Amino acid sequence: MAMETNSCQQLQIFFLPYMARGHSIPLIDIAKLFSSRGARCTIVTTPLNAPLFSKAIQKGEIELVLIKFPSTEAGLPQDCESADLIRTQDTVEKFIKATFLLAPQLGKVLDEHRPHCLVADAFFTWATDVAAKFGIPRLCFHGIGFFPLCASLSVMMYQPHTKSSSDSESFVIPNLPDEIKMPRSQLPVFPNLDGESEFMKIVKVSIESEERSYGVIVNSFYELEPAYADHYRKVFGRKAWHIGPVSLCNEAAEDKAERGSIEISTAEKHECLKWLDTKKPHSVMYVSFGSLIQFADCQLLEIAMGLEASGQDFVWVVKKEEKDVENWLPEGFEKRMEGKGLIIRDWAPQVLILEHEAIGAFVTHCGWNSILEGVSAGVPMITWPVFGEQFYNEKLVTEIHRIGVPVGSEKWVLSFADVSAETEASVRREAIEEAVIRIMVGDEAVEIRSRVKELGEKARRAVEEGGSSFLDLSALVGELNHLLEA
Ligand code: UDP
Repeated sequence: MAMETNSCQQLQIFFLPYMARGHSIPLIDIAKLFSSRGARCTIVTTPLNAPLFSKAIQKGEIELVLIKFPSTEAGLPQDCESADLIRTQDTVEKFIKATFLLAPQLGKVLDEHRPHCLVADAFFTWATDVAAKFGIPRLCFHGIGFFPLCASLSVMMYQPHTKSSSDSESFVIPNLPDEIKMPRSQLPVFPNLDGESEFMKIVKVSIESEERSYGVIVNSFYELEPAYADHYRKVFGRKAWHIGPVSLCNEAAEDKAERGSIEISTAEKHECLKWLDTKKPHSVMYVSFGSLIQFADCQLLEIAMGLEASGQDFVWVVKKEEKDVENWLPEGFEKRMEGKGLIIRDWAPQVLILEHEAIGAFVTHCGWNSILEGVSAGVPMITWPVFGEQFYNEKLVTEIHRIGVPVGSEKWVLSFADVSAETEASVRREAIEEAVIRIMVGDEAVEIRSRVKELGEKARRAVEEGGSSFLDLSALVGELNHLLEA
């Protein structure tokens, strides 16, 4: 796609989102935020990921430059351009390899267009060096908040888990503002690997690349994690700007409905919202595990049984296609649940659902976006972490803010691809039933709701004019504009 080089002094920023919806969605919002502050924003992505950005492009908020995803070069099927399509660990590795092969193409794009700044996902560990070749500052986007960033850096630095005698023995994560304990079984596997493993090398390169970058953009707001926002900057010495929750930049229902959806849809198309309109305030559970996780049938069956036994109404997002044999549902489940429960087998308009007043709680895998969206909507959570930094995020929700209760997920899995192959459910129906009742009924539920509502109001204030995130974004835009004048 042809584009002029920067002839005038409008700030021009290029964005390189990681090819996974959980990473791309917030980066689109971030590009829109910069655009609202007068910057010309361009997304660099691949053809099959481009539809994610089409709405913002149509509205003239962002532009697009296409590069080729090297699927076949990495041994992937030709149409595999998104981590959302990965189902096996072998494919995870090939996918990572493909993303490393993107570096030369990014170099060409930067050389041709010479933007003033590159915002690239932290998984592109090579992006700082590629941008540096053209004298372009690179901002790093992790997609997660200050708390998980600090916790993972502390674990990496102090290796506290190596002193535990077993995987189930809890250790304290050293040198954090709060005493956070967790067992080794909940740790991302990378700190356990020795320094020379391939994965550890990537992690090390990623940290170095972040340290050498111009700074870090964080999708968070100061009031959510003040001690950790300070810790990350002062103790870990990172230059960082918090500008979230970025999902709140979507004000129109249509924009919220289309967030992350590949095909353009409208809010009206979503039957679930009409269904929610018929329900009492705070009476429905929203159950969703993000864009990547596809639980095995044995686990889905436990969820179905737990939800039914709880007696609470629910909307449950299951990443299953109609053609999949439905042996993950108990006999007669959907008939019995008519009027009580709704299963969405597609992409759900999550932000709109969470903001609906009928929603009483959110069963979440603790993806960072989901947590921020739950907090912004003032919805109590049942935490069910599975992989990545999700076990850290659970601590923020259940222990630091006490705005959710844990379902009792105990063991980290190497990758989301592994959960679909499990032969035994890791969380039982009784635990699900118990957590659902605890979060929906009784005095504790009322207290949790009141705490999360208060935090949700703070989230909204943070992005309003004069709020902490609004001001940090102003500071970042001001600094980048200053660079441009220098
Ligand atoms: N999401 C959505 N509909 C779905 C599933 C996910 O809108 O059916 C969105 C959700 O609102 C969030 C993102 O996808 O913005 C998922 O990001 P998160 O960090 O929660 O989890 P991940 O998918 O990266 O594991």
